Amino acid sequence: MTISVASTEYLDLQKKINSLQASWMEKTSSVIFEPAIQEISYRNDIPLIAQTNLKIDENQYLSFIKELAELLNEQHSKLNNQMNSVLNLLNTELATVWINQALSLNHLYFNQFAKDFDLEEWIPFFLAEQALRPYLKNLSIQYKENYSNQSVEFFGCPSCGEPVRLGRIKDEGQKILHCPRCHADWHEKRLKCSHCGNEDHETLSYLTVEEDSTNQIHVCKECNGYVKLIDDREALEKLDPTMLDLTTIHLDYIAQQKGYGVSKE
Ligand SMILES: [Zn+2]
Ligand SMILES: [Zn+2]
Repeated sequence: MTISVASTEYLDLQKKINSLQASWMEKTSSVIFEPAIQEISYRNDIPLIAQTNLKIDENQYLSFIKELAELLNEQHSKLNNQMNSVLNLLNTELATVWINQALSLNHLYFNQFAKDFDLEEWIPFFLAEQALRPYLKNLSIQYKENYSNQSVEFFGCPSCGEPVRLGRIKDEGQKILHCPRCHADWHEKRLKCSHCGNEDHETLSYLTVEEDSTNQIHVCKECNGYVKLIDDREALEKLDPTMLDLTTIHLDYIAQQKGYGVSKE
């Protein structure tokens, strides 16, 4: 089994996107959430994003999409026509729609948008989602205290609601879950399914990867869910959750080949 199947070309592109997003993080650090979490009583049974509204400046959001499109153009000149078509379509009105549809991870909307305007299927969602991430990351940073001090009583990222798929083993063997989307992290019991809450050791198990003692895939026979659990305590370089997720994509393939990740219902 090869250790990583994400292409170096793609990883390289993601690194460039990460530095772009780092510059956006500064521009969005004062992003306002209304109502502020302090003014409402925080709930640990729904994600933060469902408890407050992000006040996103559409023009700023559009400027991020433009920078991203320019980066993709530089990297892949064959995308020029596609990127130009998207940029011609976008205006503040459409930006509002994209923000809301990306917040609710509405892939159907973006797939239809791609069809309607003759774009490659991945492009609209990719742009809309990547430009949203600095806002989501700032939400998870600003309100970390709320979710990191409480148990999370639902199955997803406590900040942005993304389904769980990635965790790390920390110091004494504790399990920390990471969100590759907004970089929130939170504790969870080692022996617990992050998708259905099952704690029965009879139906919880893990898959190991040949020649790779540092990674495991925790699987649940109750709900068929899985989580990649990475032990990088000895690693020199600690990757951020987005890169960690991408560089361990081979674990997703293994889990999915074994039939995990598909809801039993
Ligand atoms: Zn998240
Ligand atoms: Zn489960």
